[in-house]
Amino acid sequence: MRVLLLGGTGEARELARLLVDAGIDVTSSLAGRVARPRLPVGPVRIGGFGGVDGLRAALADYDLVVDATHPFARGMSANAVAACTAEGVALLRFERPGWEPDPAWHYVATHEEAASRTAALGCRPFITVGRQELARFTHALGEASVLARVVDVPDITLPTPWRLVTSRGPYTLDGDLTLMREHRCDVLVTKDSGGTFTWPKMQAAAQLGVPVVVVERPVPDPRARVVHAVELALAWVLSHR
Ligand code: NAP
Repeated sequence: MRVLLLGGTGEARELARLLVDAGIDVTSSLAGRVARPRLPVGPVRIGGFGGVDGLRAALADYDLVVDATHPFARGMSANAVAACTAEGVALLRFERPGWEPDPAWHYVATHEEAASRTAALGCRPFITVGRQELARFTHALGEASVLARVVDVPDITLPTPWRLVTSRGPYTLDGDLTLMREHRCDVLVTKDSGGTFTWPKMQAAAQLGVPVVVVERPVPDPRARVVHAVELALAWVLSHR
């Protein structure tokens, strides 16, 4: 049984380790977006498949697919549903749970809405939505003293008042408190990424009384079977042995 694991997340690396330990033939797939990705154990392939058609062709080498990409990696998840449906390959979506909603947070549906809401809330925002989304904030916040934190430097020119910090974590409460105090952040912007890895900024914002704008997750494709725990994804794979 050959498993294709669509990854790019800490949970995907955890699942790869569990599958390798269980003796499963698993290949992890990474998009190749990050310059120095953290690699999972076991075989790894890097780079896009070439849309749905490319993924359909690649599926000839696999019996099962687990889509453990980031909750906001909508393109890859949609392609996985389309290709697996067309090829009759079993697909499981693993998605880490979103954060427990805090009534004080400002939920928005899109990054554009996040940008305008942020502009209304403050003038020294801390933007942590990832480099690929920054272009969607430059119009509404071009004049603001933005602190943008990314893993890799974005390939767009940022507005002059913006300050960029590159960091891939792990993040700590002390570190995020220091960063936000030093920048005098007055609003935090984040995706509803869930998990613990980027949680310290949310704790820091709460301690500092800084409002938080949260971009809601895309709605999962109703055709995809979804689990929210790595152990359940492991059990699903093992059930096909
Ligand atoms: P996306 O918009 O869903 O995907 C765009 C294209 O990138 C896909 O159509 C596919 O290209 C390729 N791709 C994405 N994930 C891939 C994978 N695991 N293996 C092979 N090709 C992949 O994805 P994204 O938001 O750019 O995210 C890229 C990767 O970074 C994902 O694997 C995701 O797990 C990780 N990540 C994303 C975020 C985020 O906030 N979006 C955060 C942390 C990590 P083709 O059409 O050519 O196959």
